Amino acid sequence: MRGHFGRLALVTGGGSGIGKAVCQALTREGAKVIVADKNYEAAKLTASELGPESLALEVDVSSDQSVYKCLNDAIKNYKRSPQIVVNSAGIIRDAYLLKMTETEFDDVYKINLKGTFLITQHFAKSMVEHKISGTIINISSIVAKLNTVGQCNYAASKAGVASLTQVAAKEFGKFNIRVNAILPGYIETPMTENLPEDVKKIVKERCAMKRFGRPEEVADVVAFLASEKSSYINGALIDVSGCLS
Ligand code: NAP
Repeated sequence: MRGHFGRLALVTGGGSGIGKAVCQALTREGAKVIVADKNYEAAKLTASELGPESLALEVDVSSDQSVYKCLNDAIKNYKRSPQIVVNSAGIIRDAYLLKMTETEFDDVYKINLKGTFLITQHFAKSMVEHKISGTIINISSIVAKLNTVGQCNYAASKAGVASLTQVAAKEFGKFNIRVNAILPGYIETPMTENLPEDVKKIVKERCAMKRFGRPEEVADVVAFLASEKSSYINGALIDVSGCLS
């Protein structure tokens, strides 16, 4: 029997990259998947590829109002609250700290960290109100540990996601809602495809496996964390980086 048969999942950033691969992995495992993305066209494309039980929703995770509407639309469509929630929406706006603009800092913080907070708060509240167990998986980054030059906004936001994950895990455990985070290394997605070739070369050299990861290699770990096979894993931060240092 497939691990997520009949369960309802919501994946932010599901229109692209890791989020899209997560949507595909959860659907393969039998979940009904809501693809939530700011890029509605991309979300619709993912949902149409998943099949008729999937739904695309437009959401800006940095807006409380938008996240609230997304939750209500999900409940209206499926008559229940999602019990699997994956926070994959995220952006980068790299610059050296002395040159970074306030907007570059704020945008990354608002989407990566505040967005994870808003989705987690609204969807966990709904799980508690509907008395259902659940699992939330946040996509942090190995950069939260490596603190890469030129990424002070991104590194701090992703370290924030890791902290938020562990606080949420402690607060929600009594409701049988597990919260875990994955720290991917460099993964082949639209986010990394335009990195300069010399940066890609350095990343591969520093990775024990000498290559970028594939979105499916992150998605399979998300599917595991969303399943009952990980029923006692809570508050974990899991590197999926091929051992990048
Ligand atoms: P991606 O291909 O760029 O996908 C991110 C998706 O999130 C895009 O569809 C994007 O829409 C959407 N998005 C952006 N802002 C949003 C908002 N405010 N509300 C809702 N959706 C929004 O990136 P990815 O590589 O799959 O990254 C997914 C997650 O993994 C991110 O959190 C990222 O930080 C993290 N991560 C990625 C890597 C990597 O190497 N790729 C490594 C570590 C961690 P637009 O295309 O319109 O912006």
